[in-house]
Amino acid sequence: MTTTQFERLPDLTAAEPSAGTLVMKFGGTSVGDPQKIKDVARRLVAARGEGNRVVAVLSAMGDSTDDLVRLAHEVSPKPKPRELDMLISVGERISCALAAMAIHDLGAEAISLTGSQAGIVTDTVHGRAKIVDVRARRIHEALDQDRIVLVAGFQGVSTDLDITTLGRGGSDTTAVALAAALGAEVCEIYTDVEGVFTADPRLVPEARKLHAVSYEEMLELAASGAKVLALRSVEYARNHGVPIHVRSTFAEVEGTWVVREDDMLEQAIISGIASDTGEAKATILAVPDRPGVAARIFRPLADAGIHIDMIVQNVSAEGHTDISFTLPKADLPLAEPILERLAAEVEAGGFSCDEEIAKVTLVGAGMRSHPGVAAGVFESLAEAGINIEIISTSPIRISCVVRAAEMERAVQVLHEHFRLDEDVLLQGDAAAGA
Ligand code: ADP
Ligand code: ASP
Ligand code: MG
Repeated sequence: MTTTQFERLPDLTAAEPSAGTLVMKFGGTSVGDPQKIKDVARRLVAARGEGNRVVAVLSAMGDSTDDLVRLAHEVSPKPKPRELDMLISVGERISCALAAMAIHDLGAEAISLTGSQAGIVTDTVHGRAKIVDVRARRIHEALDQDRIVLVAGFQGVSTDLDITTLGRGGSDTTAVALAAALGAEVCEIYTDVEGVFTADPRLVPEARKLHAVSYEEMLELAASGAKVLALRSVEYARNHGVPIHVRSTFAEVEGTWVVREDDMLEQAIISGIASDTGEAKATILAVPDRPGVAARIFRPLADAGIHIDMIVQNVSAEGHTDISFTLPKADLPLAEPILERLAAEVEAGGFSCDEEIAKVTLVGAGMRSHPGVAAGVFESLAEAGINIEIISTSPIRISCVVRAAEMERAVQVLHEHFRLDEDVLLQGDAAAGA
């Protein structure tokens, strides 16, 4: 087993906790139409009325970011990343300006800010920029003037003064980075579900809302496809000790707390299941079994910026090796010519790419102390006749690659096998399925 290494992030200067600063982030569905924007405005004014210094981070309305990406590709087959960022950062500005108008109509003061105006400084990597600093002077000034501050999520300004975006789902990251920089006691993420569930409630209707989940578990879930929180937002939250409260925009109920494991009152054996159809499987066939071949294959892929996830190598009796690995589907156009060249260079029998795969991942801190969870995963998938093509693990995660067409059933089978619809605690008797 290997421990998952999540990317190291630059240290932001975290502020001293300042009582009363509340960061509230609203996702695309939550601001999906004019009425919803007015509802969010009302909620922000109410939070202000309770004495909080309110900073709201808004996403673009509904699917408008997807629409902008589509628009770019209608104009240009390969849009320049800088210009794409200029375009797709616009959606968040629209939401913030409209919300500020709605807040004014309710008789309160508000100001909308772009990421750049809010002091979100990033590196220069367009499309998945990393926040390197938060210069929150302007936010503090506006809060001191009793205003509600609306910050456009998902974007910043690079150290080269260009507009950047933080990667899909990146408004979560804006919110957590602001919460850290402003010393907010909690970062509230308002979304279209009531919290973090044991599986995507759209795939598993019986999925159960978790009261709490540790940063480590949430990192594994987010990295494995549970898009309820963007991976980097959880990394920031863990690095800066920011508690996240994921909750519903549409219902006034307690959601899920993402906190340090030590701060959790109770710990389930398995926290949840995530699934991901964003990866493809590449196989280099009949590679001669010689030292250094893997290095020759993976170095050029790494240099091209391709993120390799799972890797398996099988040595056949004839002394030939097949090497399979997974990579983002979006990187295939970049990877295929490299693989073709490499297969020839190492005198392999060729290569193939398969986009019809999915990764299904079971996450739970209780795996550390409960042996047999992996066996339970393999047995239950076998009973359901679902073939596992690649397996990878960390101390708190088991991931299996299966056919994409079987993903939904695999998630449901595992959810049922581990009885995730019930509250099975670590202290309890039920090492379910173990
Ligand atoms: P927002 O636009 O508010 O950022 P997202 O669409 O990014 O919302 O994330 C919320 C969605 O995440 C939910 O609608 C749900 O379908 C999906 N999701 C996936 N896995 C989970 C999970 N384990 N718990 C809750 N939601 C999940
Ligand atoms: N609007 C952006 C996206 O759709 C960012 C976000 O919603 O968090 O990815
Ligand atoms: Mg999101």
